[in-house]
Amino acid sequence: MPLQNRFHVAFYAATLATTITLILFTLLQRRTDRPQNKWFLTMLIIVSVNAISNIGSSVMVGYAEESPFYFTLLKIFHNTYFIFHTILCPVLYCYVLNVTGSIRRWSNLRKIIVAVPFFVTEFFALVNPLTNWVFYYDNYVFRRNWAEYFIYGAAALYFILSVVELFTSWYAITVRRRIAMTYFFALAMGGVILQLVQIDIKSELFAESLAMLGAMLAIESEDDILDADTGTYNRRALQTDINGFIVKHEAVKLIFVKVVNADMVERVTRSANSDILALACADYFKALVPRYKIYRPNPENFVLICDGYREDDVLKISEMIKDRFLKSWRIFESTFLLDAVVINADVPKDIQSVDDVFFVADSIVPSGVDKDGIKIEWVMRRAEIERAIRRAVHDHKFEVYYQPTYCLAERKLHGAEALVRMNDETLGFVPPDEFIPIAEKIGLVEKIDDFVLKQVLAFLESKVPEERGMECINVNLSVIQCLRPGFVEHILKIVNSYAVAHSKINFEITESVGAEDYEALSKVAHDLKKEGFLLSMDDYGTGYSNMEGIFSLDFDVVKIDKSILWNAEKMSRGRIILENSVRMIHDLGCSVLVEGVETEEQIDLLTRLNVDYLQGFYFSKPVPKDRFLEVIA
Ligand code: C2E
Ligand code: CA
Ligand code: CA
Repeated sequence: MPLQNRFHVAFYAATLATTITLILFTLLQRRTDRPQNKWFLTMLIIVSVNAISNIGSSVMVGYAEESPFYFTLLKIFHNTYFIFHTILCPVLYCYVLNVTGSIRRWSNLRKIIVAVPFFVTEFFALVNPLTNWVFYYDNYVFRRNWAEYFIYGAAALYFILSVVELFTSWYAITVRRRIAMTYFFALAMGGVILQLVQIDIKSELFAESLAMLGAMLAIESEDDILDADTGTYNRRALQTDINGFIVKHEAVKLIFVKVVNADMVERVTRSANSDILALACADYFKALVPRYKIYRPNPENFVLICDGYREDDVLKISEMIKDRFLKSWRIFESTFLLDAVVINADVPKDIQSVDDVFFVADSIVPSGVDKDGIKIEWVMRRAEIERAIRRAVHDHKFEVYYQPTYCLAERKLHGAEALVRMNDETLGFVPPDEFIPIAEKIGLVEKIDDFVLKQVLAFLESKVPEERGMECINVNLSVIQCLRPGFVEHILKIVNSYAVAHSKINFEITESVGAEDYEALSKVAHDLKKEGFLLSMDDYGTGYSNMEGIFSLDFDVVKIDKSILWNAEKMSRGRIILENSVRMIHDLGCSVLVEGVETEEQIDLLTRLNVDYLQGFYFSKPVPKDRFLEVIA
């Protein structure tokens, strides 16, 4: 063999070693289920076959003249090369379209039209043994023919299309992919150009195999986007892929599966079984959709991206998931019932950003909500309220309304309850029952309560309430906030910066406290009382707290919830509860306030029961300060 040909063989052998290694590792990592993986593998196989046929022809070219058999072998190698090499660039283009995700939006017609140059040139390559259109031998010397220019033209076309695709999808793919693909094209181009100017440096295939090595490391390697426990994709992958859909304005359907009681399982079994449970769930999802459509952005949440699915198929899948969660899951020897909320959502109808996706995935489903009733609109409204709260806190956009309280025996004004209002520019009026629990969850209720307290203090400092005969103003406290360390000092710091007597402020703490909080709460209540503040227990009769615990807190006033009053009117059993509640509270040495008074009849009833204070729409709804002053005038 001439020295020069050995040199060629060395290049092709290096190429082959590289591609065989890449094929082996691709198969070993079992990363072959996505269409993208399949195209990648196809490219590797094509380059391998080309390397083999080039080795064959480099060797045979020296022996062709010796026997017709060697000459035939040479022809077979050359023809094989062209048949496979013609497929390479179209496959590259398919690969790029899959990596960028653009292929999803292609119609079948478009696919066929784009494939026409490939079919034509592949036809030339296939019929060359009969036609010699691509190449032929002139006295054992290889000669190009006209069809070869078409083959290179088509390859160049697909290569350029691939580069264009990369740049038009620039923002839909990750930085890492951008760099890897740019490197890929630059290296492949470099190899082609070098071989063009220096025909004896067989760099084209070798450069392609190296470019694929880069792609393998940066694009095909998924270790950093896989969820190790379940083999599904992780949070980062979800972010990348959703971003791709959003940047390209593509509609896609999502199914969120939120496992609500995973921590319960952990507590019951006292071990980290939740990962095994997650794997069981993931395996179930894998039976419904391909693995690469499943994401696990956080331990208790799965997201299924149903791109290319019909609406009713997606609904069917989510119904199947709901049904599955009605049955138990078996792990080792035990069975568990998992509670899950399944939410269907559309991009871009319900979800417009990556943040929205994570909001839904990360949002905690409050207990006591009907799990079947949770729709994406509900979750997104919570997201909007959350944003509205942040805006309002930032711009001090809350307002304080006042609702008067009356002293029944003296038939005169007693005080008022301060109630917060949020009027958002986009959402309009949002009732506090809706936004206070959300503010508690995102840790902003403290800011709101401080704002209300300061407004009340400023009002009291003006002496107007006193002149109008008001004894105190009630301020609501969130229990979550009360239990924070340094709470009483915090309150004192605010109150003491106003010239207001502590006894003018009546803090309301709601009855529905968890039993474990009593000790901490009784310390707070005790400290507040010691500082001279008044204390009311709010919403008496709505929780199921232990009486002993509650009444150890030493309240001045107990506010009986409006539902107790309304039930007392409806049925005699309710009447007995109200009567005895009032008597018991009196016997324990507290005053009684009844909320929700709306009618004359209710006042008559409450007068007979000797209730101390009344509050309700009968007297006034909560109103802004100026209006409040008119009401009590
Ligand atoms: P709450 O402390 O039990 O407040 C009494 C609620 O009952 C008020 O609703 C009031 O408008 C309503 N109400 C009063 N009288 C009547 C009546 O005769 N009929 C009817 N149907 N309703 C009546 P609002 O203002 O919507 O407040 C709801 C809840 O939001 C409050 O319940 C309280 O838990 C919370 N909240 C309000 N302001 C604040 C605040 O500044 N801080 C905190 N942490 N929570 C607040
Ligand atoms: Ca209250
Ligand atoms: Ca209340």
